[in-house]
Amino acid sequence: MNNRQLFQQYLAQTSESPIGIEIVKAEGNYLYGADGKKYIYLIGGISVCNIGHRHPDVVAAIKKQADEYLHIMVYGELVQSPQVRYAELLARHLPENLNCVYFTNSGAEATEGAIKLARRVTGRTDMIACNKSYHGNTLGALSVMGDEYWRNAFRPLMPGVWHYDYNSEELISAINEKTACVIIETVQGEAGVITPELNWLKDLREKCTETGALLIMDEIQCGFGRTGKLWGFEHFNIVPDIVLLGKALGGGMPLGAFISSKEKMHTLTNEPVLGHITTFGGHPVCCAAGMAAMEVLVRENLIEEVIEKEKLFHSLLIHPSIKEVRTKGLLIAVVLEIPEQVLECLQKCLAKGLFSDWFLFAPNCIRIAPPLTISNEEIREACDIILGSL
Ligand code: PLP
Repeated sequence: MNNRQLFQQYLAQTSESPIGIEIVKAEGNYLYGADGKKYIYLIGGISVCNIGHRHPDVVAAIKKQADEYLHIMVYGELVQSPQVRYAELLARHLPENLNCVYFTNSGAEATEGAIKLARRVTGRTDMIACNKSYHGNTLGALSVMGDEYWRNAFRPLMPGVWHYDYNSEELISAINEKTACVIIETVQGEAGVITPELNWLKDLREKCTETGALLIMDEIQCGFGRTGKLWGFEHFNIVPDIVLLGKALGGGMPLGAFISSKEKMHTLTNEPVLGHITTFGGHPVCCAAGMAAMEVLVRENLIEEVIEKEKLFHSLLIHPSIKEVRTKGLLIAVVLEIPEQVLECLQKCLAKGLFSDWFLFAPNCIRIAPPLTISNEEIREACDIILGSL
C-alpha cells in the first residue's frame, strides 16, 4: 500500500472527502507535496505557524532539549527549565493579574482547565458562552461551543451553559450572581472573523466584575500577534481573569495553556489536592520550541508589520464574487455568496499551488491566516491565485 492508501485504511477519518495530499516538507511559508508541488500555506496550520515552518531557532531549541531530556514526570512535580522559563516569559508579556501558567497539551484542554478553575474559584456552575464560538472538541469545550449541529450528536453535555449572540446586550444582561464564568473568543475565528465592539467588551468586563463572574478570553486562534498586537484583548483595553492560549504557543509543537492569577490557580492545589493534572501537558520539548518561537516573534518585530499586510490583502481582494473581506490583522475571512463557491475556489487554488481553507461556522468564507512572516510579494501572488480561481 502507498501512504495515501494507508491513510485511508488505517487513519480515523474526519470527513468523507479529506484533502489527502501527502506533505513531505514544510519550510517558511510553504508546504511541499510528495508530488513535487510547492504550496503557499495561506492558513499556517490554522494560526499555528505564526513565524513560519521550521524556524532555525525553534528547530535548534527542539534538538537541544531532545539531547537533555524528554518526558520525565507528570506536570507540576519537578522543576523543568523549559516550562518555568516559558511561563516567566509569558507572564512578563501579560498583564499583572495573568501571572500563573498551567500548560496543557492542546487548546481544548486549556478550555477544560479554565472551566474547572472558574467553577472552583467561584463555587458556581453556570456558564455563558457565545453562539458560533469554538473552544475545542472535548466534552466540556463542546458544551460551550456555539453551534447546535456539531453539539447535538454528543448530548448530554455539561448542564448550565447558556448561549447568546456575540456583541449582544442579551449576553451581558444574562450574567448574574450564579454565573461562574463567561467564555468568549477575543475575535471569533470559526464564525468567520467577527470582532467585538469596544463598548460591548467594556460592559461585559464591568458586568463580570460586578457579579463576580470570571471572564475567560480565548486567544488560542487570535493570540501571538495575529491581530496586530501580541494579544487580541490589547486592542480593547480590557483584561480577562483567565486567558486561553494554544496553537502558536508551541511554535509548531502541541501546547496549550490557561493562565490566571496565582491566587486563583492556588485553588487547584487543595480539596482536592492535584485538582488538575496531566501527564504530558507542558512537555519540555514543546515548551522549549514555543519559547524559542515567542522570542523570535517579539525580537523580529513581526507584529508591527501585521497591519500593513492586512491593508495589502484588503487592497488586493477586490472581485465581483467577493461580498466582503472581514479582517482583524492577519485573521481574514473572504466572504463569498455560497459555500459551494468557496469549495470550488479552494480546489482551484490547490491546483495552482495555494493551500487555504474555510471556517466551521462560516462555510461561505475563505480562511486566510498566513504565517506573519508572509512577504508582500507572497501576499500579491496568493491574492492573484485566489482572484484567478474565483
Ligand atoms: N479555541 C479556539 C478559538 C480555536 O480556534 C481552537 C482550535 O481551532 C481551540 C480553542 C481548540 O484548540 P485545539 O484544537 O488545540 O484543541
